[in-house]
Amino acid sequence: RELIAISGMDNRMGEFDMAKKVVIVGGGTAGWMTASYLKAAFADRVDVTLVESGKVGTIGVGEATFSDIRHFFEFLDLREEDWMPACNATYKLAVRFENWREPGHHFYHPFEQVRTVEGFPLTDWWLQNRPSDRFDKDCFVLASLCDAERSPRHLDGSMFENDYVDGSDNLHRMTMSEHQGKTQFPYAYHFEAALLAKFLTGYAVDRGAKHLIDDVRHVALDDRGWVSHVVTAEHGEIHGDLFIDCTGFRAVLLNQALGEPFISFQDTLPNDSAVALQVPQDMFERGIRPCTTATAQEAGWIWTIPLFNRIGTGYVYAKDYCSPEEAERTLREFVGPAGADAEANHIRMRIGRSRNSWVNNCVAIGLSSGFVEPLESTGIFFIHHAIEQLVRHFPDQAWNPVHRDQYNSAVANVQEGIREFLVLHYLSAARSDTRYWRDTKTRRVPDALAERIEQWKVQLPDSESIMPYYHGLPPMSYMCILLGGGAIPLRPSPALGLVDDSLAREEFQLIADKARTLVDKLPNQYEYFASLRR
Ligand code: FAD
Repeated sequence: RELIAISGMDNRMGEFDMAKKVVIVGGGTAGWMTASYLKAAFADRVDVTLVESGKVGTIGVGEATFSDIRHFFEFLDLREEDWMPACNATYKLAVRFENWREPGHHFYHPFEQVRTVEGFPLTDWWLQNRPSDRFDKDCFVLASLCDAERSPRHLDGSMFENDYVDGSDNLHRMTMSEHQGKTQFPYAYHFEAALLAKFLTGYAVDRGAKHLIDDVRHVALDDRGWVSHVVTAEHGEIHGDLFIDCTGFRAVLLNQALGEPFISFQDTLPNDSAVALQVPQDMFERGIRPCTTATAQEAGWIWTIPLFNRIGTGYVYAKDYCSPEEAERTLREFVGPAGADAEANHIRMRIGRSRNSWVNNCVAIGLSSGFVEPLESTGIFFIHHAIEQLVRHFPDQAWNPVHRDQYNSAVANVQEGIREFLVLHYLSAARSDTRYWRDTKTRRVPDALAERIEQWKVQLPDSESIMPYYHGLPPMSYMCILLGGGAIPLRPSPALGLVDDSLAREEFQLIADKARTLVDKLPNQYEYFASLRR
């Protein structure tokens, strides 16, 4: 048995006695994102060891992201051309919601700031003027680019002309919460999760992270209840200062060994199961939509994520309303013959959050910390946010509880904020043709959200009326879900009846003209990514 001595007294940080020996358990997206980021942040001043089981697989899903993920790649000094082709990645400009209002209806939630005219958001003007029945196309350029399957970049690699203010040097290496409101990057990414984990393995190992393939059999606690080491099957004891639990839904360290309770969100978000397929497709023939599609079904919804080489798809449902067999049948019918040979991955989802994600010297990141179903692709965003917060509140050997407490409240705020936002999707969806959809209107609603919805009925969401703590979403996101879903009656601000609307009408026209020009000029996504491979 080899003994890996990770603890040591070498203090290269000078006078600060930092927690220098970090042990990460788990090698999924969370484990490798954490290892890479810590290496990018601290280089060899922090010793990182990642141990992942060769027997317990990764979750095998998680391929769509938030636009803020770009800060992660920027932090690692990775350019798109470095990693995107290696991960079959594509661009995502929006989430497309199909059939949430009624069959045949769709709307987009784009990564685009809402314009302001005469002090009111253009969406408010849309409620007043209703230039067409498509708020998304009238108010946002990206909705038209999605319908036309355009790439946000020209073939020469330049970004399409938009109102996005590029991150100048002083924004470099800022956290997502510091960026919010300053910039709205117009796209996120889709990628193959397994390939990204592989890519990041190379990144972290090249920068000195130690990688062990082994099973953690036991988590040893000291007299105070802190993790002293983990015991592995092949490599013996692994000691460290800080232990990061990236073991997925099992939460081997935080929930199992330290006994930190898990708070279920099931009463407000009932989807607890999913079945996923990876469908090989000729993407040249099919085309690559630059968005994630969420198509409402009888007992949940199906995601469609187009990659360069295949489609990732899955049915997210509540088992109280649908059996796994029915769900798989529905998914296979939805996908058609292309998915006939694809193997189904049935997943039970643990919906909620650990009461505290940082307990003693253990921090859970990823599914072990919390998860709120994949609508709006928040899993990887949670990971990214948690890592940023960990670096910001990185402990020293005095383990001042202020770092831990600030970290815990930042993480809980994000998880609770996203919970509210997802509950809103179901409340605002007009669809009511099955028991599942009717029940979405009578289920418990978090108290604060119920109050906010009453306000939003008479005044669209703004930064004062959405959840006040950082949770990754601007008021625009809430507006889109309310305007697109159609179940909650909305009124324009009364003042708009008294303000000259000529500038608003001009703005609607400008957006329509700009969208038309861009659709003509930009290549489609397939052309763009094929050109990168030539
Ligand atoms: P896992 O991938 O489960 O990895 C756990 C790791 O721990 C593995 O390496 C395993 O070997 C290791 N391990 C476990 N036990 C031990 C042990 N005893 N010893 C050693 N190692 C151990 N997020 C998004 O952002 N976008 C999406 O589109 C999206 N879609 C999703 C769809 C579904 C149905 C689900 C369930 C999740 C989705 N997510 C999505 C969330 C996303 O998949 C996860 O956040 C992400 O994959 C991180 O997972 P993880 O690394 O925490 O856990």
